[in-house]
Amino acid sequence: MENALDQIRDGGKRALAGALTRIEAEPDGAETMALLDAAYAAPRAHAVGLTGPPGVGKSTLTASLIEHWRSLGRTVGVIAVDPSSKISGGALLGDRTRLRTDPADQGVFVRSMAARDRLGGLADLTVAALVLMRALFDVVLVETVGVGQSETDVSTAVDTVVLCIQPGSGDALQFMKAGIVEIPDIVAVTKIDMGMTAAQAQADLASALDLRDRPPGEWAVAALGVSALKGEGVDDLVGLIDRHFAHLAPALAGRRQTQAGQWLIQFVRERWGREGVKRAGALTLDPGISPFRTLSRLARDLAA
Ligand code: GDP
Repeated sequence: MENALDQIRDGGKRALAGALTRIEAEPDGAETMALLDAAYAAPRAHAVGLTGPPGVGKSTLTASLIEHWRSLGRTVGVIAVDPSSKISGGALLGDRTRLRTDPADQGVFVRSMAARDRLGGLADLTVAALVLMRALFDVVLVETVGVGQSETDVSTAVDTVVLCIQPGSGDALQFMKAGIVEIPDIVAVTKIDMGMTAAQAQADLASALDLRDRPPGEWAVAALGVSALKGEGVDDLVGLIDRHFAHLAPALAGRRQTQAGQWLIQFVRERWGREGVKRAGALTLDPGISPFRTLSRLARDLAA
């Protein structure tokens, strides 16, 4: 019999949408667990996080990236994480560009998800959706609104973090210099059609990012200017994203395993505190078993 993951592959976007809805409805259900185990064991995509403050141009750039990746024949899944309405009342979205894609194109799928209790952070369902979509597409892009420290949340779930900043805004740069925000892998200076040249943007950032000591062999944070509106620099950005993935390749599986473990511990700490972490610490993550199953077992144990 065909397994659940193959059924989704065969059923296309409609099947995937249904599966994501089922995961939301029954996050601990047996079907969900089996599906997530299968997906976790069969990663295919390069998972890319795109983050930055509201209005910086993330949605516009996402649309541009999708177009570019599709032109290269790559399939793309997008998870657009909307900030929770708890603090912002939804106002953060402002004039946010709605992402429009061709509904007939089976090679691109977009899902919006709420960040729920962590502003700009990843809800657990987001991570589950990422794991599922990672097994189905060539690229999975997770777009999150980064405010202050929330960038770190993305970096625990994706392979490559792209931080978007606007020329002249300086905020993100200050954060990075002060060590408040984890350094991304790539910095994209957006809207360079508005006056600043790509070269200027790149030089400014490069000098700031150079402040950090870097052990030999470590990835050098790359900065570049883009104009999603004019399509400038997007091919270079795609090239850089690919280069970062190639850089990670030799250690990718181990790194993802470590990330999954970190995600699990973080989740357990938030929900059950130190006692939970103590018990989770004794659990080892089996590469064939998703962290969601481990979490669900742990939840049962702690409730007993
Ligand atoms: P998000 O909130 O980060 O997703 O930002 P959006 O993609 O919604 O963009 C916010 C505003 O900036 C919109 O009015 C966009 O049209 C505009 N914008 C986005 N990219 C560019 C660009 O490359 N150049 C210019 N001039 N404007 C842009």
